[in-house]
Amino acid sequence: MSEAIYSTDGATAVITMSNPPVNGLGHGLRAGILAGLDKAAADPAIRSIVLIGAGKMFSGGADIKEFDTPKALAEPTVRTLITAIEQSKKPVVAAIHGVCMGGGLEVALACHYRVALAGAQIALPEVKLGLLPGAGGTQRLPRLVGVETALNMILSGAAVPSEQLKGLVDEMIEADLLRGAVAFARKVEGHPLKLVRDLPLHYPGADAFFGFARNLVAAVAKGAPAPAKCIEAVAAAVSMPFDEGIRLERELFMQLIQTPESAALRHAFFAERAASRIPDVPEDTKTRPIAAAAVIGAGTMGGGIAMNFANAGIPVTLLEMQQEALDKGVVTIRKNYEASAKKGKLTAAQVQERLGLITPTLNYADLAQAYIVIEAVFEEIGVKETVFKKLDEVMKQGAILASNTSTLDVDKIAAFTGRPQDVIGTHFFSPANVMKLLEIVRGKKTSKDVLATAMALSKKIKKTGVISGVCDGFIGNRMLARYAGQALALLEEGALPKQIDRAMESFGMAMGPLRVSDLAGGDISWSIRKRRYAENPGARREVIADRLCELGRFGQKTSVGWYRYEPGKRDAIPDPLVEDLIVAYSKEAGIERRKISDEEIVQRCIFALVNEGARILDEGIAQRASDIDLVYLAGYGFPSSRGGPMFYADSVGLFNVERAMKRFAANPRAVPGFWTPAPLLSRLAAQGATFNGRD
Ligand code: NAD
Repeated sequence: MSEAIYSTDGATAVITMSNPPVNGLGHGLRAGILAGLDKAAADPAIRSIVLIGAGKMFSGGADIKEFDTPKALAEPTVRTLITAIEQSKKPVVAAIHGVCMGGGLEVALACHYRVALAGAQIALPEVKLGLLPGAGGTQRLPRLVGVETALNMILSGAAVPSEQLKGLVDEMIEADLLRGAVAFARKVEGHPLKLVRDLPLHYPGADAFFGFARNLVAAVAKGAPAPAKCIEAVAAAVSMPFDEGIRLERELFMQLIQTPESAALRHAFFAERAASRIPDVPEDTKTRPIAAAAVIGAGTMGGGIAMNFANAGIPVTLLEMQQEALDKGVVTIRKNYEASAKKGKLTAAQVQERLGLITPTLNYADLAQAYIVIEAVFEEIGVKETVFKKLDEVMKQGAILASNTSTLDVDKIAAFTGRPQDVIGTHFFSPANVMKLLEIVRGKKTSKDVLATAMALSKKIKKTGVISGVCDGFIGNRMLARYAGQALALLEEGALPKQIDRAMESFGMAMGPLRVSDLAGGDISWSIRKRRYAENPGARREVIADRLCELGRFGQKTSVGWYRYEPGKRDAIPDPLVEDLIVAYSKEAGIERRKISDEEIVQRCIFALVNEGARILDEGIAQRASDIDLVYLAGYGFPSSRGGPMFYADSVGLFNVERAMKRFAANPRAVPGFWTPAPLLSRLAAQGATFNGRD
């Protein structure tokens, strides 16, 4: 229930903001606060006002339920509220605890005073949505904490603990926030009213500082418009009178809210929230407890997965077949933790604590107490069969049996056990202790509470969980195969690795496809291809990639791949040998190489992703288009300022996407059928609809 609760404590009015879970400043709450201010103003017995948040925090800012709806702009707006606070004849004290962010902080900045508990997280995170603080934050924050701190906070969106913001907090409260705030309010009753807007802001080095900040942002913002506008607004706080600065801030905010980057970032924000909702699994489904875990296989993935549990404080048993492999796995984990400690991310005590939560073993009997086991052994169905049959014997009733398989059929794996309802896929990405994405693979028989538990667990271990149905490659890798296939086709037709990577990186991908292949190791996809050729002799052969692997060029791990690498460095250096190999193949295959534009490279790679994404959506493998977007944002380095492949296609217009596909299909080198638009894509294009509008 969204409301502001009015109470009194002697001559102090207390307005308590209550709108769970974050006291978002929704319309109802805004109206309630305003009514509280009016009531306090009208009551001659009241001499001061305290504004405080119910529950765990002051306020997390805008109410996301109202985002992009008319209610967000309906009066009273946050700006109206701020004016009312500033016009109050009685001092208003903001009592801050937990979280005070965005619009919540802007309201607090308009109060006459601020008191806080230590540890409260103070932030203006609007830049993360491609925006800037639009209710005075860029003008008031610098007046309290200084230009440099304010600009840092506004540009990074990162939270700073209250005790580090001396200028912002008038008094730190030790324990009882409300009591401390009321006592503070009593002290200031009758004092001349102070407003942040009236504070002088002198900053002699302004020109040099803002010049430096502009250059820095131009270098790192990759064309995103919000950071530069944040600087412009903060610079105005120094150079303009307050009200003019506020006007400029508003103007810049209105410009930003209309940019495609902000629309994409807001989409990504909602995609993250939508992903944890599973349409046929009620939100109140009781999850199973996960007080202890186990991992089978201490190789590349198993070690990283075990670290995720230890990092979340969950004890985990790590099982291998041989002592040597087990020792090797534990040494790698230790090295990873020690590297984090060296970077100052963990203390020595934390390293010990986490290592202490990991129990290595060779004995299946030691798994009996685990509530979940994640299998990460070799990618061979026979090995998985042995392991799952064993797990079925030793795991306690109700334990979740998960597989980290990338390509095998989770339903088949489930059928190795007598409890397929407890079996699920948990597809982590490498390195598993770092990468955010977790595809949660729902088998035909996976029970609803197992799904809900896996989703809850993904949050606990700080992953972005996305549900995928069972299919070859799940959502991410199934689409990626199409994307990578286009990169290889472009090589044959006339492009070189550096051009393809540069084009995709200019589009915004964290890394181009050939650099990614060098990072992941070309041998992995080579072994998948060899299996495919054996199973289907008519399958299209990726001759260039095969030849590269035949030369032992697997990428960074062998110092040569699509590029060459100098010892200890990760810079991809173009290699004439590879370029000759590519050109020689084109000649041999009778392909007349042509100049290929960067635009064609980007469109073919991205639209190949999109077409497969459309099939995945139509087949119900993905629950919604935004889940596909999230997979690519969290797991594949897709630029958040483009919102994910499906959102990007929506913004290009599906009609235009389909037209481009038809053009590509007319290319004589195109694989027959590759560019046939997925039926869903054609349907939506004909209706003038979008993937994301369909959700
Ligand atoms: P890996 O070869 O690095 O590790 C596998 C480990 O399992 C080895 O240490 C091996 O000794 C151990 N092992 C084999 N048989 C076993 C058994 N019967 N009992 C106990 N331990 C056994 O492999 P990996 O790259 O960690 O891959 C593991 C799984 O994760 C595979 O299913 C793979 O497809 C999947 N996966 C890998 C990646 C990746 O990028 N490497 C990404 C996602 C998923």
